[in-house]
Amino acid sequence: MNPAAPFAPRKTIEQVEEGQELAPKFDPQGLITAVTTDYTSGELLMVGYMNAEALRRTIDTGEAHYWSRSRQVLWHKGATSGLVQKVRELLVDDDQDCIWLRVDVAGGASCHVGYRSCFYRRIPAIGKGAGDGTPLPLEFTMTEKVFDPELVYPGQPNPTKL
Ligand SMILES: [Zn+2]
Repeated sequence: MNPAAPFAPRKTIEQVEEGQELAPKFDPQGLITAVTTDYTSGELLMVGYMNAEALRRTIDTGEAHYWSRSRQVLWHKGATSGLVQKVRELLVDDDQDCIWLRVDVAGGASCHVGYRSCFYRRIPAIGKGAGDGTPLPLEFTMTEKVFDPELVYPGQPNPTKL
């Protein structure tokens, strides 16, 4: 693998927005936001982050790689669980500070909690007022887990940080 990052330097707004070169904008932590949807259903599966290496490995291998902010490691999605995300299409937004992965998911789940999508709860108060300061309730939109995290990640600490 050629170690040079295959990304163009960002020179002008026109180049970034209207040009034909990949010129991603990484934030001061070296990260770019990545949103991931199911290629077939269009469902939003997860939002994560990539550093330059995660982006290039995703491009090299066709499988989603992210940067785990909680564990501070490059993360080949599915390496442990087998729930690999095969990238069918990779897009970048107008100002090239967000990547969109359209994926097929082996095993049909993308969330370490066991659900198909990370977005398995809604905030039902929308449009009804945010209330008086008491914490707002959440409502589950999915009831069935695709897998049991205890079986898929035996003995591993949950990556969620409080
Ligand atoms: Zn999740």
